[in-house]
Amino acid sequence: MSSLRFKVVEEASNRKAVAVDIPAERPQAFYGKAVFNRQRMFEYLPKKTYDALVYAIENRESISREIADSVAAGMKQWAIDNGARHYTHWFHPLTDGTAEKHDSFIDHDGKGGVVEEFDGKQLVQQEPDASSFPNGGIRNTFEARGYSAWDISSPAFILGETLCIPTIFISYTGESLDYKTPLLRSLNAVDKAATAVAQYFDPEVKHVNSYLGWEQEYFLVDEALYSARPDLVMTGRTLLGHESAKNQQLEDHYFGAIPSRVEAFMLDLEIEAHRLGIPAKTRHNEVAPNQFELAPIYEECNLANDHNLLLMSLMAKVARKHNFRVLLHEKPFAGINGSGKHNNWSLGTDTGVLLFAPGKTPAQNLQFITFVANVMAAVHEHNALLKASIMSATNQHRLGANEAPPAIISIFTGSQLAGILDMIENSTNEQLSDLSSKSGYSVGIAQIPELQIDATDRNRTSPFAFTGNRFEFRAVGSSGNCAAAMLVLNAAIADQLAKFKQAVDARVAKGEELQNAILEEIRVLIRNSKPIHFDGNGYSDEWKEEAARRGLDCETSAPKIFDAYLLPSSVEMFKRTGVLSEVELQARNEVKWEMFTKKIQIESRVLGDLAINHIIPVATRYESVLVDNVVKLKSIFSGMKAAEIVAPDIETIEKISKHMLAIKLKTHEMIENRKVANRITDQRKKAIAYHDTVQPLMDEIRYHIDKLEGMVDNEMWPLPKYRELLFIR
Ligand code: ADP
Ligand code: MG
Repeated sequence: MSSLRFKVVEEASNRKAVAVDIPAERPQAFYGKAVFNRQRMFEYLPKKTYDALVYAIENRESISREIADSVAAGMKQWAIDNGARHYTHWFHPLTDGTAEKHDSFIDHDGKGGVVEEFDGKQLVQQEPDASSFPNGGIRNTFEARGYSAWDISSPAFILGETLCIPTIFISYTGESLDYKTPLLRSLNAVDKAATAVAQYFDPEVKHVNSYLGWEQEYFLVDEALYSARPDLVMTGRTLLGHESAKNQQLEDHYFGAIPSRVEAFMLDLEIEAHRLGIPAKTRHNEVAPNQFELAPIYEECNLANDHNLLLMSLMAKVARKHNFRVLLHEKPFAGINGSGKHNNWSLGTDTGVLLFAPGKTPAQNLQFITFVANVMAAVHEHNALLKASIMSATNQHRLGANEAPPAIISIFTGSQLAGILDMIENSTNEQLSDLSSKSGYSVGIAQIPELQIDATDRNRTSPFAFTGNRFEFRAVGSSGNCAAAMLVLNAAIADQLAKFKQAVDARVAKGEELQNAILEEIRVLIRNSKPIHFDGNGYSDEWKEEAARRGLDCETSAPKIFDAYLLPSSVEMFKRTGVLSEVELQARNEVKWEMFTKKIQIESRVLGDLAINHIIPVATRYESVLVDNVVKLKSIFSGMKAAEIVAPDIETIEKISKHMLAIKLKTHEMIENRKVANRITDQRKKAIAYHDTVQPLMDEIRYHIDKLEGMVDNEMWPLPKYRELLFIR
């Protein structure tokens, strides 16, 4: 009898919403209260220090030790005034999530007591042991020491009673061991390259920023049910479980009424987020039962990414307060939608112009087309790399699974933008300048603003879609660090813009008029990047064939997809932009392969345990109940009648035996394959072995277990079922 399962289901269904401590003030009163933002800096820092810091932030420069000391003093005072006792350098290692090592402010005062100290050196730099974090072999060649260094462009904040200082994390020899370092480098690269091109259109432009607006999807599960599922606890997803009779087919969850327990959680989360200066704005139910989304207002890319990471850890914390567990895994449940994290990405000048938005003048529209065409060229050239940037052991389950974009990168433009690109490609420069001077002609460049590019022209099957004033990279996974995708995208566009500028300048040097030179080069880009443009149904099988014919990367095996980081075109691009060196790329790929292997290894071990120690014993017990029953029936009936009466039970016994045998054999095979794979020392080959020889057996084992779930006495089944996990009351 499965008393535990029934107990936790009862516990979960009786749970009420937890009361939320709603502040009396409006959001503007407590927004950013826990952040050392410009207002706090102004309050707590001497004027000279404040000016130097703001100047350094705005011009992407570093600060002197003297200024750092002065900032540290002000920051410490602010932190202590707000109840902080510890400080930590907060960074993003190559694992999932964030890392922190807390130190208290205290130091000896020389008289047997303590004082609270925090100076510029502690603010600017720490030395966490790099060997405890994935480093892809960089530490073997050099030293185990790693440094974290303050990222002045992201403000410090207080979490609980700890002052958190956003930092980069690098090895003793300067290689990045994190996501933030290359992200910042890519933002510098795109600033430089995009500013140079934007100056063709407006010489006043001094900087170009990259913006990111992420949409975080997640699942909530009651904590009691979660705790009764070792697979959820250890891998973040269900490794087995028969589909529930009702899941998302009625489409009644999307934008439906939010259950009160969930609404309380969301409200609490938003208040916490607002205190931390995360501009959480939108919340709603998602397509699958128990699936939800939170989206903030977009921000500068580096800050937006810090906020996403902070929000993910905040979610886990707040969920526990509400007796939930949050699942950020991309595919926690089979048979229903998984979770992604759309990355809405754009570039904008410091003069306030969004570069992927059509403008009000012909010049602004030429600028818009210039940037769009360069994005298409960059995404085309690096389509394999962009796919690699979002790939992981967890996101592989989502892509291509008929709910999310396929494992092929293409761009959706919508018919209006496609029409404009066609028109530019097929008109001469004379025709175009003619058109732009004639009012009333509907496709001339001058008329683009009146076209009102329609942002609702949505194609949900595209991994990379133009949505009016930005591009939406939809293949990013819900648990991933957006920086992985953002650094590739920003580096690729920076490199492409630099090439574009070179080509245009060469034409101008030969005496071509600037606008004509730009138009000519745009035509080249439009023509060359045609294969990446696809507005059709990305879920269809025809698209897969078509994409292969077009030469787009169609690799579906995650460990092989990572190879794209080491393609000559990628290595060269990263080198030119200064975003990642070849040593860094190799080291990071080692980490990717190793992480992939470890995740599958853990899943495989958990599934083996569940299969042999949970499922087989229960199925055996139920089978023996049936066998007993058959024997007893035969003792009271005889001949033909007995045979007829026991026939259904015998059929079930046969099926159960068949599935149990398959589970035992496949589990044995899976363990043997693991042993073989574990002996491989090359990380890439090992990951491929796990992908090719371990992963498929997990699917087979699951198939048989899920069949058993449909046969074995409901009362005996040990694990909460999908129908119990997925519907919060
Ligand atoms: P949906 O795509 O679900 O319709 P929204 O239109 O609300 O969602 O936008 C999703 C995200 O895109 C939000 O975070 C929003 O702030 C962000 N966003 C809007 N404009 C831009 C832009 N120009 N650059 C980057 N992000 C943007
Ligand atoms: Mg969106």
